[in-house]
Amino acid sequence: MFSTFYGKNNLKSKVLNLYNTKRVPHALLFNGSEGSGAFQLAMSLAQLLLCQEPSLSDSCGKCSSCVKVEKMMHPDVHFSFPIQLSQTNKTNISDDLLDLFLEMISELSFFSTEIWNDKMGNKNKQGVIGTKESQQIIKKLALKSYEGGPKILLMWLPEEMNQQAANKLLKLIEEPPKNTYLLFISEEKENLLSTIKSRLQTIDVPNYSDEEITQILLDKFDCSESEAQTIASNSFGNMSIAIQCIKNENQKDAYLSPFINWMRLCYTRNIADTIDWVDANSKEGREHIKGLLMYSLEMFRKCILGHYLIDIKNITQDQKQFLKKFMPFINHKNIVQFSQVINDAHFHMERNANPKILLLDVSIQFFRLLKTDKK
Ligand SMILES: [Zn+2]
Repeated sequence: MFSTFYGKNNLKSKVLNLYNTKRVPHALLFNGSEGSGAFQLAMSLAQLLLCQEPSLSDSCGKCSSCVKVEKMMHPDVHFSFPIQLSQTNKTNISDDLLDLFLEMISELSFFSTEIWNDKMGNKNKQGVIGTKESQQIIKKLALKSYEGGPKILLMWLPEEMNQQAANKLLKLIEEPPKNTYLLFISEEKENLLSTIKSRLQTIDVPNYSDEEITQILLDKFDCSESEAQTIASNSFGNMSIAIQCIKNENQKDAYLSPFINWMRLCYTRNIADTIDWVDANSKEGREHIKGLLMYSLEMFRKCILGHYLIDIKNITQDQKQFLKKFMPFINHKNIVQFSQVINDAHFHMERNANPKILLLDVSIQFFRLLKTDKK
């Protein structure tokens, strides 16, 4: 339900307004980075579209349709998502892994491609949405609605569709069967084939703010305000990272360890090991790299604050310990260039730069910048 997830009030009103004025398009794209809540927003709309006693502000949460949607067992809600195709395991279409997918989304309100790939058995293998899946979708949606209401397709990560699969869906998107809604949830709409993108109305879902993340952590988890704030400021708007941090005692700070390793490698200019580090980190995906870049910028900022003996907020003990030794390397002589390199890299990362080439390039610039005289 819209009321059960926090924040995003403007967006909720926008979606509700579409519904209340009967203007929900038959093909709609929710686009938002990992951990932005785009999936929840689409699910809430699906529930509202199916609800038998909706109000102006939400689904009722009580009727049999709502209960079925919440239990992920409504027969008119169809899920489609990328899968790791496998001949041996006979996995060709989403339905082959539906139980696993539903288990993940009911367990975790925020999940990521990394978690999903890991669940499917190979953390480093990206799933795909193939032609068999498209055929299956067309077949399913051509059938009559089980419960007489609308039929809904929720497709997570349509950008993982290959060209053939997408081509097969064009007609469906253009002229969906009666009372059918196609809700797509993407993380990188830039990667979506333009033939598909141009046929969808898009709702952009921004990242959570630090304040929103803090509030959600305080509401849902047993933690102190300062702990919630620290995690929020180290999650860069990614709710999925924030929740992983709070659940995992040993990993309150997901980016610290790759950051420390990176800085050590850049300082020692160990090119062979840097390449290994780059390989490993580019496999973690774009969101990880963007988060790591923002994290580095934040650490550099903390170094500068430290020089001026300013009290640093939201710093963990482990960060403090590392920064004590690392601080002298970041100073007024190189901070502007460091910021520039990171901001440029982040800009290119959002525009589809190759992660490996980009990270290696940034590392080599860091090699040079870290050799600037210490303060
Ligand atoms: Zn209801």
